[in-house]
Amino acid sequence: MDCIFCQIVAGKVPSQILYQDEEIVAFPDIRPLAPTHVLIIPKKHIPSLAHLSEADLPVMGRMVKLANQLAQRGGISQSGYRLVINCGGDAGQIVPHLHLHLLGGRRLSDALG
Ligand code: AMP
Ligand code: ZN
Repeated sequence: MDCIFCQIVAGKVPSQILYQDEEIVAFPDIRPLAPTHVLIIPKKHIPSLAHLSEADLPVMGRMVKLANQLAQRGGISQSGYRLVINCGGDAGQIVPHLHLHLLGGRRLSDALG
């Protein structure tokens, strides 16, 4: 198993786990781009958004809901925040395990790319 996020799920790579349940894990991005930069991942290895199946839709919904809850917990739900999913090379996806970026705590760029 050489997927870095699967190794975090398995506890083989240390991370500060902010939340976890039977399906989802959330932890801080190791190279934060904003004061709040959290990654939310399914425990199941899904390589990218392009590999999402019908059966994965509930966990995807729960990941988005968790992002909102972590934004609240982090005190940025009023100031605002952004959820980002990079899919594939042109989007800059470097870790091939589906993840949601939660970004906030500063004014984010207007540009989406
Ligand atoms: P992406 O470009 O969407 O694939 O983003 C992958 C993100 O994972 C990057 O922002 C990295 O900084 C982050 N990352 C890579 N390895 C780790 C790790 N061990 N712990 C936390 N974040 C990581
Ligand atoms: Zn994985």
